[in-house]
Amino acid sequence: MNNNELPNILLVDDRKENLLAMEMHFEDMPANIIKATSGNEALVRILEHNFAVVLMDVQMPGMDGFEAAKLMRSNNKTAHVPIIFVTAISKEKKNIFKGYEAGAVDYIFKPLDPEILKAKVNIFLDLYNQQKQIEVTNLRLNQANIEIEKANHKILAQQEKVVEEERLKVLLNLSGATAHELNQPLMVLLGNIDLIDMCKDEPEKVYKLLDNIKEAGLRISRVVKKIQTIRHYEIQPHDQTTNIINLDQSIQILCIEDSHKDFLNIKNSLKSHKDICLSLAKSLEEGWSILEDKGSRIDLIFLDFILQDGDGFTFLTKFSQKDLQIPVVVITGQGDDDVAAKLIQAGALDYLPKAKISEQSLFRMIANAMEKATLKKDLARMQEELIQTSTKDSLTGLYNRRYLLESLNNEMQRAKRYKESLSFLMIDIDHFKNINDTHGHPAGDIVLAGVANILFANIRQSDIAGRFGGEEFAIILTHTDINEAVLIAEKMRKAVQQASFSDKKAEMNVTISIGVSICLESDNAKDVIKNADKALYKAKGNGRNQVVQN
Ligand code: GH3
Ligand code: MG
Ligand code: MG
Ligand code: MG
Repeated sequence: MNNNELPNILLVDDRKENLLAMEMHFEDMPANIIKATSGNEALVRILEHNFAVVLMDVQMPGMDGFEAAKLMRSNNKTAHVPIIFVTAISKEKKNIFKGYEAGAVDYIFKPLDPEILKAKVNIFLDLYNQQKQIEVTNLRLNQANIEIEKANHKILAQQEKVVEEERLKVLLNLSGATAHELNQPLMVLLGNIDLIDMCKDEPEKVYKLLDNIKEAGLRISRVVKKIQTIRHYEIQPHDQTTNIINLDQSIQILCIEDSHKDFLNIKNSLKSHKDICLSLAKSLEEGWSILEDKGSRIDLIFLDFILQDGDGFTFLTKFSQKDLQIPVVVITGQGDDDVAAKLIQAGALDYLPKAKISEQSLFRMIANAMEKATLKKDLARMQEELIQTSTKDSLTGLYNRRYLLESLNNEMQRAKRYKESLSFLMIDIDHFKNINDTHGHPAGDIVLAGVANILFANIRQSDIAGRFGGEEFAIILTHTDINEAVLIAEKMRKAVQQASFSDKKAEMNVTISIGVSICLESDNAKDVIKNADKALYKAKGNGRNQVVQN
């Protein structure tokens, strides 16, 4: 039985006893022996299998060895199979020449010398095996290449998706924050327009209202201007492997580099980009003085890793304390991955080994750096804006102090305008420190959130409940006079007293003290808060767990 793993040898001879004799010589060889008794049969076999070598008798009836060899050579599939002629006839040069012409690679003469026969056949077996090995390796390499290409595509697609998602998040958050920011001046605008209708006959009041409208209009225009100055970079696919950014303005790059040759290399690589301007600092010291002088105009820093007055880490450590917000790309001489990772941890945005400097790599680096830096700036600005414009307290879900104060001002204006009553509650949990001390801070948080829920459940939709400070809450009760306010406060006090809060380990009970105040015509927001505070202080002094009105 043939072993598929082993190479095949084809023996061709018209005499069976010759075939048997030859086969005996190959008994120990790591190969399969296939036999043919004529030129015709040899042609059939050679199409059926792959052969490492053919041993071909020359003199055969019908088609002789030379003819069979020529036919093999003429077929693409079998043209390169090596043929050794086995012959007893004349060793004359003429015959040998004819054999080589027919495509022989060698001759063996009868009577066969087993050692020579084996040695010659072995060479072809080795060649065949090596070739197979190369084919397998090639196949694997090709497959690996295909896999790598697929993975590359995936990574690129994912990177693009991440950048897109980040940008979308920024935009969504910005638009939410912006909508909130616009809301307040818009309300002022509409409210004042309403008021103009009501006091048409009093020109002085109308002028004042017009001023308010103008002020609100200016606030809206500032928000709109802010939206318009968000920098947009347009990304276009380029070269499959990189993204190119259409930069809407020139880019100033500071190269801190002590080797003039390396600087020229960078400069030359970027010479076709007229919108990229490079300036050079030959030492860290010179770099610092340029940054101090015109740091605000520099968009990107290329930092050589080793300079005479310090290395990349020296620079990055000092740089991170300065809050300069300029992305730094370190150009390393060695391209050591370990160093690169540490540099990025130290605050570098990216790194590039000097050996890899080319127009493409530099430009891609610049595009990436600018993109990342813009994203970072947008995110930071957005976070700042979210903090500035957020209205809710995250632990309790109630409004925060800032929003509550803003609302108190608005609601007081409205109440005075429409001659409505407005009350204010200042609420403080009694001996809350004991809860934290006994059950821990997380349990304290559970109680805070629970009390907030109870307060919220006892107000109307037009009322505004907020967390005023640590364990203090405040509530604006619209269209509510002092008597109604005391009733509502009393209801809240009882509800909290009856509730118990659990953190899985313990049941906790608390009480609250409440100070109530009312908004009078002459009051400002500070007065209303101060009055409620005074009442609360009395409630505490009288033994807590009670409502006191101012
Ligand atoms: P009093 O009846 O006089 O109001 O006593 P008190 O213990 O409630 O008041 P004090 O002002 O002495 O303590 C308030 C405590 O509230 C101290 C502070 O650690 C805690 N606290 C403030 N904010 C939080 C918070 O967000 N979570 C938790 N768990 N505790 C908070
Ligand atoms: Mg150097
Ligand atoms: Mg308290
Ligand atoms: Mg307190």
